[in-house]
Amino acid sequence: MKLNIDNTFFSELSADTIKENFTRQVENACYSLATPIQTKAPKLIHINSEVAKQVGFTVEDLNSEKFNNLITGNFIYPSTLPYAMCYGGHQFGNWAGQLGDGRAINLFQVLTDRSLTLQLKGAGKTPYSRTADGLAVLRSSIREYLCAEAIHHLGIPTTRSLSLALTGDQVMRDVLYNGNPAYEPGAIVCRVAESFIRFGNFQIFASRNDKKNLKALLNYTIRHHFSHLEENNKSHYAMLFQEIVNATVNMIVHWQRVGFVHGVMNTDNMSILGLTIDYGPYGWLDHYDTDWTPNTTDSQNRRYRYSQQPNIGLWNLYQLANAIYLVTEDAPPLEEALNSYKTQFESQNLKMRSAKIGIDSPSEKDKILLDDLESHLKLIETDMTIFFRLLAKAKKIEDCLDAFYHPNQLKGEVLATWEMWFDQYQSRLATENQLEKDRIVNMNNTNPKYILRNYMSQLAIEAAENGDYDLINELYELIQNPYDEQPENEKWFAKRPEWAKNKVGCSMLSCSS
Ligand code: AMP
Ligand code: MG
Repeated sequence: MKLNIDNTFFSELSADTIKENFTRQVENACYSLATPIQTKAPKLIHINSEVAKQVGFTVEDLNSEKFNNLITGNFIYPSTLPYAMCYGGHQFGNWAGQLGDGRAINLFQVLTDRSLTLQLKGAGKTPYSRTADGLAVLRSSIREYLCAEAIHHLGIPTTRSLSLALTGDQVMRDVLYNGNPAYEPGAIVCRVAESFIRFGNFQIFASRNDKKNLKALLNYTIRHHFSHLEENNKSHYAMLFQEIVNATVNMIVHWQRVGFVHGVMNTDNMSILGLTIDYGPYGWLDHYDTDWTPNTTDSQNRRYRYSQQPNIGLWNLYQLANAIYLVTEDAPPLEEALNSYKTQFESQNLKMRSAKIGIDSPSEKDKILLDDLESHLKLIETDMTIFFRLLAKAKKIEDCLDAFYHPNQLKGEVLATWEMWFDQYQSRLATENQLEKDRIVNMNNTNPKYILRNYMSQLAIEAAENGDYDLINELYELIQNPYDEQPENEKWFAKRPEWAKNKVGCSMLSCSS
């Protein structure tokens, strides 16, 4: 096993000087050294060979005991120092103070065409674990492992999954926080990203008025991830912020396109590279209910519901702007970047919504057609993914019948409303300067056929908890090509089954993981 280790991180950012692993407030430091705990009986369940190759592992490495031990924290790669990052964050709109990598331990960075960080999720306590155990259970690890890959193959920026392993240890969890704790199998996902730096990494320094470390982190971010910008330059810090705004808009427009609901858009879960990060109680819209959130912890206010994600992205960016302001002391460039969020979002979102219905160059008038469509999708329970996929070839609403959860409700006024919309839509398409066959191809590249519905992960979880990992493999293969027809996988191009509508793990998820 020979990896191209990059240790610049340590020389460029300040470390916590206390070596012991007890829970504490860590000041004047970007990170703390943290040693993964030894796991009892590490057992690999899945390896992502594409990511493994990118990192620099050979096929021989992947079959070795060393690899098994590395990705479960039992073996530390020579001359590397695992560490946990210090960050804070706004949770559900309130400043929560120091949070940090409470159950994520960064193993090391490797230099490939760019630098990649390998991080274990669930490898034990760090100084940031607060009252929790630093561990992760199989159910949430499967969800993170598969979903990051599903999101990647949908063309959405995200952290990646390298491996999924059982630890052999049992972990106590109270799934619904209702006083029913039980033991579950422990697991570790090794995830990989160009950077795991979050908005909260900057916020924690600003909250402590620690300008020195705030600047050091801004410079580090520029040096390693935005190297076309200048370090120690206030206007370039604002330009960095503008780039983070752009990346955030891009990510959220993609989420809206595929019906992904992150579930916990706290500022500590917002990547400065605009990567989808920290897969917790996320979900996918089955029927088109824009007020839906999978997160039961948020069921009262629904702060992070599907329709609210774009606004929350902006709210979170305000918090980051406030942090950066501490060192730039120049509000207008930051305000300008914040103002551009709205205009960028509106134009990209209109483009995306139009692309979903096969309109290449949308005009203001198309907004009415699009708004009508989105309100009609709520008339009777309508599956978002299936509807848009069938729309490519549909001439009339009956061609989309399979998208309705209760097709017999398509009658009377509902039917008339849809018929009117289709008339308008067909007339609009007739004015498009696009061959029908090209339009269909474009629509199918915008509207995925296969998404990782919650019930699908739940089935894979239940099988895996009984020692059967076949479904993990099957879903992993399925999500590699979400826009392809894959006739052999047609059974996954189906509405959520009735049993999954209100089931824990499908429509309802908590942060317990
Ligand atoms: P999340 O809601 O998963 O983004 O987590 C919020 C904060 O809680 C982060 O600082 C996590 O590292 C920490 N955290 C979540 N679960 C655990 C756990 N089981 N053990 C330690 N820290 C945790
Ligand atoms: Mg988090």
